[in-house]
Amino acid sequence: MNKIAIIYNQTAGRSIQVDGVLKFLDYLLQEACPDVHIYPTCTPDAAEWLAIKACELEVDIIVAVGGDGTLNQVINGMMKSAFHPLLAIYPTGSVNDFASALDIPKQPEIFADMLIKGKKRKVDLGEVNGSYFVNVAAAGAFTYLAHEVSKDAKKQWGRFAYYVKGFLKIPSELEKSYRMNFVIDGVKESYDTNFFLLSNSFSIGGYNYANPYADIQDGLMDLIIVEKLNALEIVDVLTKLVAEDHVNHPKVHYKQLKSVDISLDEPLILDLDGEESYPFPVTINVVHRAIEIIVP
Ligand SMILES: [Mg+2]
Repeated sequence: MNKIAIIYNQTAGRSIQVDGVLKFLDYLLQEACPDVHIYPTCTPDAAEWLAIKACELEVDIIVAVGGDGTLNQVINGMMKSAFHPLLAIYPTGSVNDFASALDIPKQPEIFADMLIKGKKRKVDLGEVNGSYFVNVAAAGAFTYLAHEVSKDAKKQWGRFAYYVKGFLKIPSELEKSYRMNFVIDGVKESYDTNFFLLSNSFSIGGYNYANPYADIQDGLMDLIIVEKLNALEIVDVLTKLVAEDHVNHPKVHYKQLKSVDISLDEPLILDLDGEESYPFPVTINVVHRAIEIIVP
């Protein structure tokens, strides 16, 4: 490792990231002495162009410091660049599902050790209209909560802010349903849905078994469609969710796929890694083993 770029989101999560960065950097400099470039993000969407800059410098490793939102921007910057460094994720955001699925350590010394001695793993990405996502594409009930929870609440309360907001909204959210048309690897299906999740990893919203069979390097994304549920069915699905058996509920449809078109008649926005992206209709494709990540 000669050259390393650290892109850190100054606003992600609570104020632990600067401390953590200084600690793993201190350890790294003692052990490996790389040429270090530090890029703090000055605006909310700066991580993408900072990643492009780091790729132009042909660094060996980009370390994305932040949550899934920062990671999303960094991989988008990398995918726009001809040169692809190795990627490492130092998880400090309020939602770190992808890092959690990869079992990335948060302790600075152990993280620095991983940078020096860790293994490399190629992972899949999802692609929509030339934008990439690393963990999840979703739409319907609940998915917009990530945008509704204010930045201040996220900083102060972290994941708890989502849960409170979600809990307060459950009855009204599940009354809504959306008639969605899916073309899954060429096969048409339509459902009255509460929501769908298309994920790369098994971890969503801090829950490690949300999409239990998802594998981040098998070239497939795992789709969960939840049909409109009544009150009894909600209890049933939640009970099965705890038992990691929700994908076998008759109102839950589970598919593994390479490509999916999704359309509906009413206006709705697709959410990518917790941020609003494109209005429907959308076509989502899997990009097999697009990025190489350092893992323990
Ligand atoms: Mg997969």
